[in-house]
Amino acid sequence: MYAPAGVKTSTEFQIPDTMKAWILGDPGELTLKDKPVPVPKRAEVLVRIDAAAICATDLEVIYQGPPAMIQGGMPFNKNFTPGHEYMGTVVALGPGVDEYKVGQRVAVEIHAGCGQCKRCREGMYTSCHNYGLNYGDVDKGHRANGFTTDGGFCEYQVNNINTLVAIADEMSDEEGALVVTAGTAMYALTELGGLVAGESVVVSGAGPIGLMAVAVAKALGAQPVILTEMRDNRLKIGLELGADAVVNIRKEPDVVAAVKKLNGGKGVDYVVECSAASKAVNDAVHMVNRGGKVCLAAFAHEQVPVDVAHIVSNNITLYGIRGEGKSAVHRAEVFMRQKRFDASKIHTHTFPLADLPTAIRYAKDRVDDAIKVVVKAKLDAAHKVAAE
Ligand SMILES: [Zn+2]
Ligand SMILES: [Zn+2]
Repeated sequence: MYAPAGVKTSTEFQIPDTMKAWILGDPGELTLKDKPVPVPKRAEVLVRIDAAAICATDLEVIYQGPPAMIQGGMPFNKNFTPGHEYMGTVVALGPGVDEYKVGQRVAVEIHAGCGQCKRCREGMYTSCHNYGLNYGDVDKGHRANGFTTDGGFCEYQVNNINTLVAIADEMSDEEGALVVTAGTAMYALTELGGLVAGESVVVSGAGPIGLMAVAVAKALGAQPVILTEMRDNRLKIGLELGADAVVNIRKEPDVVAAVKKLNGGKGVDYVVECSAASKAVNDAVHMVNRGGKVCLAAFAHEQVPVDVAHIVSNNITLYGIRGEGKSAVHRAEVFMRQKRFDASKIHTHTFPLADLPTAIRYAKDRVDDAIKVVVKAKLDAAHKVAAE
């Protein structure tokens, strides 16, 4: 039985020595294997993973590699377990941990910065200067589970206490797995200045982060919140999450003009770009008013030309954000706890952990209009649950 020295466990949770974990072999090749249950060190806990959501970035990692970086290189054939959007129950405490209790349900942030570099000291731990340095004689204690260290497509994982966010008892496991998604949207709005009450915001792209950006912007008091997207079913969810207006960019070829018309003929104060479409960056730059700000929250797949002269002559600011820094996940969880928006609207499917390849296919090919697909170790095998 699991009883590492210095680690506090409870008879309430029987922890095995080994667990089921998905392991990445060659690109796109995942195998379910047995792995030792990891051991928490100082300032770490062991989390029993109750639900893990699949993110578009997981697909990049599994099929292409980056932004994952294992031992300084590609993540393939390194016994690496991907998965970064998960929640669970604290089942063991590393030496000296009294911040969390065994039995507590938590959502987890992805990035545990080293805590000692310039950016970590500023709260920008997702931009840690010691990113990926967590092995051998250059171990800086940095972890980004599912990117530089083992992630959540397994039964147990070790998390730094700084990455834990306690969640409300009423929150379902599936909703808990979406706290970090909402946290990323919160971070985008934090970096734009945070004070968006009464300000006009466009969100481009209605993927999970875009839809959460609509919900969070609205909860922060933005007015109007306009969502641009090409799929009507996603625009409908955007309206349910609080968008004041939507633009279907397939039916409306001049999206800049359409947005300005919706905002009384003027540009908007902020754009959160979540689509990764090449054209979207320049559209965003032309959608904001003079002095406006654009936050880029999507990983683009190619280099994107932008209208620099327009940016300079209109005092426009462009930001990139990575992940969910400055404790944004804590703020997002509070909004969800207060039921300011219903994040579960973006959860569409749940599969057993053992069916991860099916879950990935649903997420990748958007089978059955899938948005957020979740896997759960506790779910009975061969038992698929559609979200209510
Ligand atoms: Zn993600
Ligand atoms: Zn750091």
